[in-house]
Amino acid sequence: MKYYLDNAATTPLCEEAKRVIIDNLDTFGNPSSKHSLGRAVRHKIEDARKRIAEEINANPNEIFFTSGASESNSWILHGFGSILTTATEHHSVLNAVSKSKYVDYICCTLQGIDMNDMIEKLTLNQYRCVTIQHVNNELGYINNIKEIRRIVPKHTLLHVDATQSIPHMKINVKSLDVDAMSFSGHKFGAMKGVGVLYVKHKWQSALWNLISGGSQERDMRGGTENVLGILSMDAALSARNLDSFEPQLTAFREIMDKVDGITYNTSYEDSCTTGIISLTIGGIESESLMLLLEMEDIFVSAGSACAGSGEISHVLKAVGMTDERARGTIRISMSHDIRPIDMTYVANRLINKIGILRKFT
Ligand code: PMP
Repeated sequence: MKYYLDNAATTPLCEEAKRVIIDNLDTFGNPSSKHSLGRAVRHKIEDARKRIAEEINANPNEIFFTSGASESNSWILHGFGSILTTATEHHSVLNAVSKSKYVDYICCTLQGIDMNDMIEKLTLNQYRCVTIQHVNNELGYINNIKEIRRIVPKHTLLHVDATQSIPHMKINVKSLDVDAMSFSGHKFGAMKGVGVLYVKHKWQSALWNLISGGSQERDMRGGTENVLGILSMDAALSARNLDSFEPQLTAFREIMDKVDGITYNTSYEDSCTTGIISLTIGGIESESLMLLLEMEDIFVSAGSACAGSGEISHVLKAVGMTDERARGTIRISMSHDIRPIDMTYVANRLINKIGILRKFT
């Protein structure tokens, strides 16, 4: 049996997505063709758009299909003269905002953004755009978007990267009152290479023409649609399991809490919601631990997963972790295929490997 605990990186295809892909393998018409084969595919895409819009309480004409959250983030964040964000965002956000004339970064801790720092920055400066992730991909903390919206002025575009929240939470763009939002299908059981950019109608004039071509995506992103990707994303979004991970987490902690030198970087409540546990284990290198676990078919991520081999993650640095602590940090990100009994097994194997590594250091 494989214990796949890297769901924040990507997820396997869910059964519902597989079924819709198999059922549509021969659905080959070009959705822009005017004949019946094309029209049939157009209907399927527009039905998917309607259902996805409904799922997040948006209007279908506010949903743009993209190749994923990186594209969605790059698209919406292009062209703002002044942006407020955090240094813990995904690289697709950080690289996109770096092209703006003026960028400020709100301080972050292990609990998420420092609201007082945000208020101070918003008092001292006016920004055209504020972009903040809903859930952090490495630490799993949840930013309070409703509260953030209460503070961000209405004339400032509030964009939320919901890539790590939408797999685990019901999201309502109207009650959160966000102006734009990004996510990727492969984080919740759909195919890779497909995602969404939601943009509230009144802000669509801020969007630039991303891909020249045909009239797809309201004339803003030309190119024949990723039909199977879109259909799989629709199926996976409505099939996602929003149950708490509390039973899995409790089983894990019952074993792990017996070990000395373990620090939980994620709060219990946040881990129960997002399934992300960030753990620092004193006296070990997380990359070595990851490799030892892999030999037993347990797949987790090291703290430096997003930074490339050997580098310390920018997220862990931004929340003030020392290099040494970051090097001992692993991320476990669960799915509902993992049962509490599996987490008990994983915790026991983890303890075994920590023991081996500590003997040699
Ligand atoms: N934002 C966040 C918070 C993410 O975790 C990721 C994926 N790691 C992305 C954006 C980018 O997603 P994709 O690679 O699917 O474009």
